[in-house]
Amino acid sequence: MSSDITKIALRYINRANRKFQPSWKNTYPWLECNTQNNRMFCVLCHASSKKNVFAMSDFTNIKLYAIKEHIKAKDHIDSY
Ligand SMILES: [Zn+2]
Repeated sequence: MSSDITKIALRYINRANRKFQPSWKNTYPWLECNTQNNRMFCVLCHASSKKNVFAMSDFTNIKLYAIKEHIKAKDHIDSY
C-alpha cells in the first residue's frame, strides 16, 4: 500500500520536474523556454551559435540537473 503511494508520488515529481519552472529564470537569467512546444534553450549559447543542445532551442529534457550541468559546459562559459 505505502509503496503504491510512493510510486504515485514519484511519478508526480518526475512529471513536475519535466515542466519548465518560471522561477528558474531568477537563478538562470539566460534560460528561455518555449512554452508552446515545451523546449528550453540558453540565450547566450544560442546567440553565439554554439553547437550544444541548449543552443539549438531543441532541448526537451527539462530538468534542473541538465541546467546545472550546462553551467559547467565550456560552450556556455565561452558564450559569456
Ligand atoms: Zn549556455
